[in-house]
Amino acid sequence: MKVAKLYSLHDIRIEDVPVPAIGPDDALIRTKACGICSGDVMPWYIEKKAPLVPGHEPAGEIVEVGKNMTSFQPGNRVFVHHHAPCFTCRSCRRGDYVQCETWRKTKIIPGGIAEFILVPHTNLENDTLILSDMLSYEDGTLIEPTACVVKALKRARIKQDDTVLVIGLGIMGQLHILLARKYGAGKIIGADMVPYRLDKAKEFGADEVINVLKDDLIESLKEITKGEMADIVVVGPNSAEAMEQGISAVGAGGSVLFFTPAKPGEKLMIEPNELYFRDINIITSYSCGPPDTADALEIIEEGIVRAEHLVTHRFPIERTEEAFRLTAEAKDSLKSVVVF
Ligand SMILES: [Zn+2]
Ligand SMILES: [Zn+2]
Repeated sequence: MKVAKLYSLHDIRIEDVPVPAIGPDDALIRTKACGICSGDVMPWYIEKKAPLVPGHEPAGEIVEVGKNMTSFQPGNRVFVHHHAPCFTCRSCRRGDYVQCETWRKTKIIPGGIAEFILVPHTNLENDTLILSDMLSYEDGTLIEPTACVVKALKRARIKQDDTVLVIGLGIMGQLHILLARKYGAGKIIGADMVPYRLDKAKEFGADEVINVLKDDLIESLKEITKGEMADIVVVGPNSAEAMEQGISAVGAGGSVLFFTPAKPGEKLMIEPNELYFRDINIITSYSCGPPDTADALEIIEEGIVRAEHLVTHRFPIERTEEAFRLTAEAKDSLKSVVVF
């Protein structure tokens, strides 16, 4: 079978490898589509794992199940989460699924951008979802990214009528806008420097957008909110500079959500006095767990998140490198998907 193997972000090769052999508790899926994530194109994050078969947003059809596997059958159309928790450890009992050791260790084999994927027992039982007939495989690839936003907004404790500022309007920023609206946000403001992405944010329900190349983010926000600033600031870009700007944009009693990590070792300047007297929360949100993927599936079924609006580019596996380049460029595109 063909797989895309990443040696570096500029060296992704198509290789032929044997179809993985499943054990009695596993399943094999024929991949139909796999999304490319903004995390997949962070060089320091992905290249330390290289060489690898990238892709963690797959959807496909089950073609074979092991003799002990009764929960799924060949023919099932599924989304598979690449990590799944044990549900019994202390982290799982507290709902911190991504801190579960099993969650960290589990993986799909060899990765999402492969013609076939072995789905181990734990992933199958603990975070694989059946796609109803109304959903396409491309809709299925949006479950994981949508679930990350579900988790993030839950952690930020979004409330009715909140003013939400989303910094960075790639696919994840657009999903934050769509979900903030669903969760009852009052005013939603998007900020980016790419006109295409600013227009998309308007299309997806942002009340205002700020082009940070033309206008000062903080000054514009002050004007839009009459000095109140934002109740929730979602910081998409993975830099300490963006995070600091996020802190400057939040209003009293509000929360700043770091949706992506900065590079290891990078430090952030904060003024605790200011945070304290203004009751500012700094919240992080890494990946997602089974309750989030279940919510994401419902949100996609409701039609709030739809591949036909968010998937802007489709590539055959042979052009995976181009799909990565487009995602890394972060210009006139939202979601790129490798289709099989
Ligand atoms: Zn992802
Ligand atoms: Zn656990």
